[in-house]
Amino acid sequence: MEIPAQGFRRVLHADLDCFFAAVEELDDPSLRGKPVIVGGDPDRRGVVSTANYVARRYGVASAMAAAQARRLCPQAIFLRPRFDRYRELSRRVMAILEDAVVALEQVSVDEVYGELPPGQPGCERAETIARRIKSRVYGETGLVISIGVGRNKSIAKLASDLSKPDGCLVVRPGQEETFLHPLPVGRLNGVGPHTRERLERLGLLTVGDLAARSLAELEAVLGKHGRWLWHLARGEDDRPVETEREPPKSISHENTYERDIADVERAAGHVRELALAVARRAASKSMIGRTITLKVKWSNFQILTRQQVLAAPTAEPEMLATAADRILRDQISPLLGGEHAIRLLGVALSGLASAHDAARTVWQVRAGHGMIQPSLWDVLAVERSIL
Ligand SMILES: [Mg+2]
Repeated sequence: MEIPAQGFRRVLHADLDCFFAAVEELDDPSLRGKPVIVGGDPDRRGVVSTANYVARRYGVASAMAAAQARRLCPQAIFLRPRFDRYRELSRRVMAILEDAVVALEQVSVDEVYGELPPGQPGCERAETIARRIKSRVYGETGLVISIGVGRNKSIAKLASDLSKPDGCLVVRPGQEETFLHPLPVGRLNGVGPHTRERLERLGLLTVGDLAARSLAELEAVLGKHGRWLWHLARGEDDRPVETEREPPKSISHENTYERDIADVERAAGHVRELALAVARRAASKSMIGRTITLKVKWSNFQILTRQQVLAAPTAEPEMLATAADRILRDQISPLLGGEHAIRLLGVALSGLASAHDAARTVWQVRAGHGMIQPSLWDVLAVERSIL
């Protein structure tokens, strides 16, 4: 995959350690240090959902029959899952992650992918971001989360898996091969026991062995699946981080001022600040918008809003600032003075769309190859050239 000149992609994968068992230990500290198994009834063909690390030392694993787990570790404490409690804690963890990433894709109750702002000189290091998430999750919930970061989903997931427990592993650009190649093939996403056996019979034991073969060879053996694995082995995975949340209807900032504003230049300074704050928030959510609204609350508490529809949706800071300024000067300024001093100002961007969706078509044409998730900087660059 080409690294866009504007910055390289940084994908994060975060996964709570032994989540169900960890919640049980959190709510009942007397369980700590003992083998804990959350899952079905060992007497009724139940299955292990999660075992804590103490139980894992006895060979207990997820998806194992609970009866077998009990044979391996007879002293284990078996608990039924409390999904409502897990969901409640999961929501709190996801809210922390949402603060830290530009796009979030929740895979399960305890696992999530996030798109970080693109890496470029001077930006905050991925490791700093990951450490901050880990300490917030621990500080606010008492749970331990492992985090991996890499240039795509599969590298990020492998990094977080391998970093456990309480892990934090960033695979930096250029380190992908060093990281991937020594791993056993069974570590790759989509290699189950059956595929692993087939690969091993061909002498393909490590990811590096896979990467060293030609695409045609792997396709001959495994068809389409072989193509997928060949790309993964070479550190190539263009799957986007897909956020399913409902997009917000508008993004706004407003401020009430201690002293009323009667001077248009002072108001203009504040309007500009608000518009830039809206642009920053839109960028952090990868959103662009078409309608800009200026809201004024006069000193007599009457509210006035005025809108302008832009030629094309944007989140470009100067465009938003200019549009808001024009509304202020054309429509608000003539009313200013006398009883009409400003108590509150607000700027909102609405008619929102995902910047990624909007730029994807253009980007695909530009890139000249298959689907890739453009970074926000690519999007803004493309967007500027459209306008
Ligand atoms: Mg987990």
